[in-house]
Amino acid sequence: MAKIIDGKKVAEEIKENLKVEVSEFREKNGFPPGLAVVQVGNNPASTAYVSFKQKACEQTGIYSVKHHLDESVSEEELLSLIGKLNSDSKIHGILVQLPLPEHIDEQKVISAIAPEKDVDGFHPVNVGRFVVGMEALLPCTPRGIIRLLESYGVETEGKHAVVVGRSNIVGKPAALMLLKKNATVSIAHRRTKNLAELTKSADILVVAVGRPGLVTGDMIKEGAVVIDVGINKVDGKLVGDVDFESASEKASLITPVPGGVGPMTIAMLLENTLQAARMLSENR
Ligand code: NDP
Repeated sequence: MAKIIDGKKVAEEIKENLKVEVSEFREKNGFPPGLAVVQVGNNPASTAYVSFKQKACEQTGIYSVKHHLDESVSEEELLSLIGKLNSDSKIHGILVQLPLPEHIDEQKVISAIAPEKDVDGFHPVNVGRFVVGMEALLPCTPRGIIRLLESYGVETEGKHAVVVGRSNIVGKPAALMLLKKNATVSIAHRRTKNLAELTKSADILVVAVGRPGLVTGDMIKEGAVVIDVGINKVDGKLVGDVDFESASEKASLITPVPGGVGPMTIAMLLENTLQAARMLSENR
């Protein structure tokens, strides 16, 4: 039976440490790190995520401000708000909650954020810097995955890591981070043939697809470490992309949903905000 990877507990520990670091930053600089969260429209999941993020800022002493724009806002107006936040000295991190309404070009909006304030780590400059091994702000969810593996002493070097999903926000960067930690990495997607054969060869299996129960116990190698990134609502209940019951009979370690990767994403956002504030105040 698998041991549970308690993301909630690890995230709480990170936040406790951050409280101290944020207060030291404030003492040294005379102001706290500041995060601006931009929400467009009223997608209930986005509203929930934004409120979790703001609450976490409050908990750790990070200043946060929310800009809630109407669903009908034009791309130009949104870009203009980002321009203002880019030059606002109280703001060190800018997060635009995705997804955006269809009439707005997401990539254009991400690219308008100053790379040094891009606490989501989605800006092409940060992606490029990371790929070539330079210091960069890194995407929160994959960073959270790596931190969980480290917290539980999971060795990655020489291990076969399989990442199911290749999105820019989770799958691709998670695969690159595992590669950086010397795992041998395979990436699966919708066109992958024989998914089960591939997942069965994984020592570390990361699943980020958004399909409830896609990965079942019979697709997992005995003793594998399973990280379930998926967040799906089924009959009003949150479930992952991995069938927890059958998977936990095979895995040695497994993340639950909720309480696994989710809380880590928020903890990493707070760390990124402090990192951005430090970099910006050192370069002033
Ligand atoms: P995307 O929809 O952007 O990407 C999904 C990926 O999964 C795509 O690469 C797609 O392949 C692949 N995929 C879909 N179906 C299959 C299948 N049957 N077999 C193999 N691959 C498949 O999703 P995200 O990466 O944004 O999110 C994934 C999940 O993680 C969602 O449930 C989301 O809610 C959750 N999430 C959780 C976070 C957290 O903090 N815990 C943060 C962010 C996301 P292809 O490229 O071929 O289409």
